[in-house]
Amino acid sequence: VPILELRNVTHTYADGTTALRGIDVQIPRGEYCLIIGQNGAGKSTLLKHFLNLLQPTSGEALIDGVPLRDFKVSALAQRIGYVPQNPDRQLFNATVEAEVGFSLQATNLDPAARQARLDEALEAMQLVHLRHAHPFSLSKGDRARVVIAAVLALKPEVLVFDEPTTGQDAAGARAILDLTQELHALGHTIVIVTHHLYLMPDYAHRVLVMGHGQLLLDAPIRDAFHAI
Ligand code: ADP
Ligand code: ADP
Repeated sequence: VPILELRNVTHTYADGTTALRGIDVQIPRGEYCLIIGQNGAGKSTLLKHFLNLLQPTSGEALIDGVPLRDFKVSALAQRIGYVPQNPDRQLFNATVEAEVGFSLQATNLDPAARQARLDEALEAMQLVHLRHAHPFSLSKGDRARVVIAAVLALKPEVLVFDEPTTGQDAAGARAILDLTQELHALGHTIVIVTHHLYLMPDYAHRVLVMGHGQLLLDAPIRDAFHAI
């Protein structure tokens, strides 16, 4: 059973814009999957279906074969972590530690387990020495890692990144992509949207090309680079 699946998913927004047209896709556990396409192609709309932030107008979105619409968003956050496009908008707390620990408050873990999760996430993102710092005193790269640490604290199997490299130079983009690669090596399934296409054959296994709400290509990334 694939960890994520869309079955003939169509999505029409309230104003009548149809953003997805009959999407069929399966993402097996352990994959590193790149999604590309021009602005307005439907990439964000598709990601939002994996997060249960949007529901299909017709068709079905599933996690491990179970319809996503049956999940509460808070329960789903422990299965699928979402790193949104502008992570700075996610920062609300006065310290790195409070920021990373915040998402754990919505879980039913006991205090000791929360502390362990917090320490583990700070360590994984190399933020231990910054735990008492204010998030906005940090560099852009460190701030991005704070947001990822907050997602990791919930130990989701799947990590969804929406354009994490936007606004970064090639070195900054590489640093973030190297991080996604480490997370993949740790066993996370990765789904990522990025415009840093030329870097991606070093990271992704598979590419989905979207256009006008449809899946134009679904192929191993090396084959796709020969085709494009
Ligand atoms: P991408 O992420 O590939 O840029 P989007 O999924 O954001 O594409 O958008 C797909 C289409 O849906 C576009 O035509 C966009 O204008 C439209 N769209 C996105 N969000 C909404 C919304 N909330 N209401 C109406 N139309 C929307
Ligand atoms: P994203 O790529 O994450 O959708 P945008 O900046 O394109 O970010 O859109 C910001 C918000 O506006 C999103 O919630 C998106 O769904 C919504 N939006 C995008 N396009 C439209 C549109 N044509 N009509 C209404 N809302 C839209």
